[in-house]
Amino acid sequence: MTTSQDIIRPDVLAMTSYPVPDATGLIKLDAMENPFNLPGDLAKALGEHLAGVALNRYPAPRPAQLLAKIKRTMHVPDACDVLLGNGSDELISMMSVACSKPGAKVVAPVPGFVMYEMSAKLAHLEFIGVPLKADFTLDADALVAAIDEHAPALVYLAYPNNPTGTLYDDAGIERVIAASKKSLVVIDEAYQPFAEKSWMPRAAEFDNVVVMRTVSKLGLAGIRLGYMAGRPAWITQFDKVRPPYNINVLTQATADFLLDHLDVLDAQAAELRAQRTKLARDVAALPGMTVFPSAGNFLLVRVPDAAVAFETLLTSRVLVKNVGKMHPLLANCVRLTVGTAEENAHMIAALKKLPTFD
Ligand SMILES: *Cc1c(COP(=O)(O)O)cnc(C)c1O
Repeated sequence: MTTSQDIIRPDVLAMTSYPVPDATGLIKLDAMENPFNLPGDLAKALGEHLAGVALNRYPAPRPAQLLAKIKRTMHVPDACDVLLGNGSDELISMMSVACSKPGAKVVAPVPGFVMYEMSAKLAHLEFIGVPLKADFTLDADALVAAIDEHAPALVYLAYPNNPTGTLYDDAGIERVIAASKKSLVVIDEAYQPFAEKSWMPRAAEFDNVVVMRTVSKLGLAGIRLGYMAGRPAWITQFDKVRPPYNINVLTQATADFLLDHLDVLDAQAAELRAQRTKLARDVAALPGMTVFPSAGNFLLVRVPDAAVAFETLLTSRVLVKNVGKMHPLLANCVRLTVGTAEENAHMIAALKKLPTFD
């Protein structure tokens, strides 16, 4: 008799699948989604646009018009090519697969985005996490030492970092790029709409840097579209391991349409940046809370007890992410996604119900 236990890789058998909690009936502030819908007239026009899409045809594997529009609207340097992924998660997976020579390694600061490690391990790459400093700034000395020691294939820098919100300093990143003589540095700008700083203008300046983005946090998490910009020498190689037709026709058509209306999404991001400032102030005013500076659409907050905070918020129907057990540096930290003014007010009211520890 054949059983999955006999066939599946032992490390896969030992894994637990990525937990996505059921958020029915809850105020969902756990996954950095944009809380706003498209305005009704724009949604209607999009619907009409999508009605014209040829669902019977395979999508274009490298849609020239959409790629050109992304380059233009996202200010990708002329010297760069662009590769599309089914979310930037798929781009991370493609890079892992393309680099997985025997003994190849991946280095990234920790705590960081979990998919760097997950994707590396699935592709049989060794993952080396280099702790951030206690205030979650980049430990450039430690990172450079790890790069010297391990000569990794890939070095990931999330700019800003998830779950800490930190925007690493330019000098530290420049040192990492200079130290990566045998590595590709992937700058992950998933939260670029909230950061107002970007390495995209410099994406072609170095022979060992690519810049990765996604439309997920901008308000289109549902369409699954990530993109990567870099010198053609990199993009050409990664494109070879791209699953054929990885971006479906509805996603392509939606992106093509909405990139002509970026002002709407940019205005939503600006509103969320303003809400972030207000939420940070309101949370910091509560007893026992430490709010870390964030350039994303979320706040990392150290609370007296992360498990109690999570449960108290849930009792008030607010779902956040308890990251307290993710890494020792994150002890008693929760990650709060910035929502609408009403959602944030509801979250603050719920946080006020926390027992005081004195
Ligand atoms: C959310 C996130 C991504 C993944 O984005 P998708 O395009 O939705 O796959 C990538 N990097 C970081 C740092 C993120 O937080």
